[in-house]
Amino acid sequence: MSASDDSSPVSSDPVVAADPGAPDPDLFDKIVNLSKRRGIVFPSAEIYGGFRSTYDYGPVGVLMLRNVKDAWWRSMVQKRHDVVGLDASILSPPAIWEASGHLANFTDPLVDCRSCGSRHRLDKLEDPDTCPTCGATGQFTDPRQFNLMFKTHAGPVEGAGHEVFLRPETAQGMFVNFANILYTSRKKPPFGIAQIGKSFRNEITPGNFVFRTREFEQMELEFFVPPADATTWYEYWCQTRLQWYLDHGIPAEKLRLRAHDADELSHYSSGTSDVEYLFPWGWDELEGIANRGDFDLTQHAEHSGEKLEYFDQANNERYVPHVIEPAAGATRTMMAFLMAAYDEEQVNDDTRTVLRLHHRIAPYKVAVLPLSKKPDLVGPATELFSDLAETWMCDYDETQAIGKRYRRQDEIGTPYCVTYDFDSLVDQAVTVRERDSMEQVRLPIAELHAWLAERLT
Ligand code: ATP
Repeated sequence: MSASDDSSPVSSDPVVAADPGAPDPDLFDKIVNLSKRRGIVFPSAEIYGGFRSTYDYGPVGVLMLRNVKDAWWRSMVQKRHDVVGLDASILSPPAIWEASGHLANFTDPLVDCRSCGSRHRLDKLEDPDTCPTCGATGQFTDPRQFNLMFKTHAGPVEGAGHEVFLRPETAQGMFVNFANILYTSRKKPPFGIAQIGKSFRNEITPGNFVFRTREFEQMELEFFVPPADATTWYEYWCQTRLQWYLDHGIPAEKLRLRAHDADELSHYSSGTSDVEYLFPWGWDELEGIANRGDFDLTQHAEHSGEKLEYFDQANNERYVPHVIEPAAGATRTMMAFLMAAYDEEQVNDDTRTVLRLHHRIAPYKVAVLPLSKKPDLVGPATELFSDLAETWMCDYDETQAIGKRYRRQDEIGTPYCVTYDFDSLVDQAVTVRERDSMEQVRLPIAELHAWLAERLT
């Protein structure tokens, strides 16, 4: 679709190929309902009738989204000596988008149905001749290229010279800061710049909940390498990024790496693969990994007049590094984690809904539950909460019967519930219940921290 779309010479077979089973057609509605009911994601501006394609992350969702981004940052920046971080501005001058090609090429083909007036993105239609809204055939207008960038004005005077854009990707911030970072960080290729932040695209057909929205968050890495090593690094990042989703709890049969076909190829790219997840509507993209060659740095060097190169002293050689770009969506990934974790099981006569989330992604790690609201228990239970909250994001709940409270924690994926009961006052021990197995153990409070640390780290 975009300036970053391109293709790959590597195998078009999925790397992970197992029978994923049929996607659950009700799963989508279940996730949307759970999100609303439990404060994960709310439709935006609801009291004003809503504002299409915007969502607010509620008390539970904000924790989960933050955990997705922290997990990415931990793997991509914290644990690597060859990657540094950046937080670049969202507002940006036209010059950047002129150089990157977005002003000319960041477009999607738009068609209108003459019969019902609905609008569609031509490249996403199952049948390019039939309107999915009203079923009319042969009624589409000729496709028009629609630029997806949001334009606004900086300062009090509107008009030419004051135009600015909301970035449609975080990547350009990394390219325009390449020289700054090269000199200040003293890194040398191969090295990367990573960034997490909001991006904005005036999507023709936003939809599927937070899968495609006009405002969303991205997690992107630009990895600068000597040209001769680009293919090796491209393959390395394809495998590393696929593994990241597996390591964080997405089952292998719901995940695949799909190399782009030749007709998806951008002229500057020698390879792109998408990490795809099996959503209820089929396989769809979570992340694109692209071998972008020297396109970005060369474009910005030409348009800005600044040299964007690396001088390799050891070999007395000057070159423009090539770029490997793993570009993921944080909000889209959070949705995949929700879907992969959602489970319902029969417990006695009851259906238990449980989010079997990876510990790192789970919004709360521990819930502290005093068995009763009596001050005798609430006092020490809140003390225990304060102690555990020094280390982990903890919930505290003293309402309703204990069984109901366990279920409420299961629904938002809390791995451990710690119940403080009347015996605790005497034996200085608590009951710890594990989310997936529902098994309970009695532990001395003095050992609780170490016990949890062993399981949550
Ligand atoms: P698509 O073809 O689905 O429009 P794209 O290939 O243009 O997406 P990229 O430019 O590669 O997407 O962006 C990298 C990642 O950012 C995507 O894999 C996706 O996870 C996320 N992303 C892109 N557009 C959106 C959006 N409108 N809403 C939510 N996430 C998005």
